[in-house]
Amino acid sequence: MRKYWLELTIGFVPVLLIFLTVIGINVMPVLFFALFGTLLFFTVKGKGKLTAFSNGKSRNEVKDTSFTFGQIGGQERAKQELVEALDFLVKRDQIEKLGIRPLKGILLAGPPGTGKTLLAKAAAQYTDSIYLAASGSEFVEMYVGVGAGRIRDLFKDARTKAKKAGKESAVIFIDEIEVIGGKRDGGQHREYDQTLNQLLTEMDGIHSNELPRILIIAATNRKEMLDSALLRPGRFDRHIGVELPDKKGRLHILNIHADNKPMDENVNMDRIAEQTYSFSGAQLESVMNEAAIYAMRESSPVIMESHLLMAIDKVLLGEKTDRETTKEERERVALHELGHAIMAEHVRPGSVSQVALSPRGGALGYVRHQPQQDQYLYTTAFLHNQIMIALGGAAAEEIFYGERSTGSRGDFEQAVNIVKTLVESGLTSLGIVDATMMTPEKWAEISGTILDDLMGKTKVLLEARKNVFEASLQTLLKEETIDGVSFRSMIKLHEAA
Ligand code: ATP
Repeated sequence: MRKYWLELTIGFVPVLLIFLTVIGINVMPVLFFALFGTLLFFTVKGKGKLTAFSNGKSRNEVKDTSFTFGQIGGQERAKQELVEALDFLVKRDQIEKLGIRPLKGILLAGPPGTGKTLLAKAAAQYTDSIYLAASGSEFVEMYVGVGAGRIRDLFKDARTKAKKAGKESAVIFIDEIEVIGGKRDGGQHREYDQTLNQLLTEMDGIHSNELPRILIIAATNRKEMLDSALLRPGRFDRHIGVELPDKKGRLHILNIHADNKPMDENVNMDRIAEQTYSFSGAQLESVMNEAAIYAMRESSPVIMESHLLMAIDKVLLGEKTDRETTKEERERVALHELGHAIMAEHVRPGSVSQVALSPRGGALGYVRHQPQQDQYLYTTAFLHNQIMIALGGAAAEEIFYGERSTGSRGDFEQAVNIVKTLVESGLTSLGIVDATMMTPEKWAEISGTILDDLMGKTKVLLEARKNVFEASLQTLLKEETIDGVSFRSMIKLHEAA
């Protein structure tokens, strides 16, 4: 019957339009509105359905859940906390006996690339659940109510798919939760509010005695942005910090990613872990991958330590560029980098791992430092030394050319940030202050005082080592790199002279 109606309409409408045109009525506005209305209808209809079927499939694909906690390097504390929380789902009898409220949401918070998605996948495997993943940005739409509809469908999908797979539970992973769960500001973003409200409603609708059980794991890099309604007990009330790995963690992650690669037997992974201070898991994975690419480029059957060191530079600073520099520029950059390196060796002997004069990413040269050990607390002296290393480049330019160049912009930014840390930690002559109450003039005054004083000291120290500059400059210009060991012997030889 419906089919006939459609055919009748298709036949009747053009006849009617022709008739109206013949008797002198302008049908263009009607045509325009009909076309616009149809377009709008289909767009909203298509977007409004989460299960916007394309080739008959739902967009919430069940992901592979064979990933285990053993495949995640480091993060021992996060893994332990997560397993403890997941035991609420696994050890149901004990939980019920004690009358413990079921766990509905776990929030993983930490910097990008630290393994939050991996933890969620492993959680699904540990609890023998199906795993569905979505990202906060997928729920953001122009049309009010569409995001909320998608949330509803996500939960519905999780239930049906778990039932179909014969599982008792489902893990829903929402990455970038801050996109939909940001603090609500009273009506500015109605669409976001509706999406968040829908998520809260769905979470409130989770009951312990209902099968399949749903657990939501959300991840964020910006926990401070989240709405308090999302964090209250009964919702995302388990917060697990997923931090950057320490040296032991880095070694573990490197070894995991080296497992499927042919490594040279002389590679000292411990040294690589040391050199990759403050790298995330994703960056470490990238180091191993880039090292393999370097090995392939050199037709080497195994990955050598030199490939790994090149890969570290690439991940840190970007690929080598072919930027053509003039002879004068090269010399200035070389002296600038030597300034940083000589200062670094003076305040922290043994800390330079390489001085390089090859353009990489946005830099024309660089010094790779080697942190002696992971450090989380810094003293005033340490931070002052750090500023002096940062100012070493500009100081060297002043000594040899009488003026500085734009090449020190990044160094000054770094120095000013350290001054900020000093002020906020109460380590300056201002004593303990509320940094948020300080006027821009006061900031300018205190950074001026600290930086001028340290710049003066840096220049005096470098001036006294002019012969080290002169001796190492030619090598650097010729070889393009000087490794830490050779650099230290040059210093030893010429400092004594
Ligand atoms: P984002 O916050 O950007 O979403 P994330 O914390 O979810 O990042 P993942 O997606 O889990 O990070 O990690 C990205 C990749 O980095 C992984 O596929 C893996 O190769 C590697 N990786 C990160 N952390 C680890 C780890 N702890 N152990 C092993 N590999 C890791």
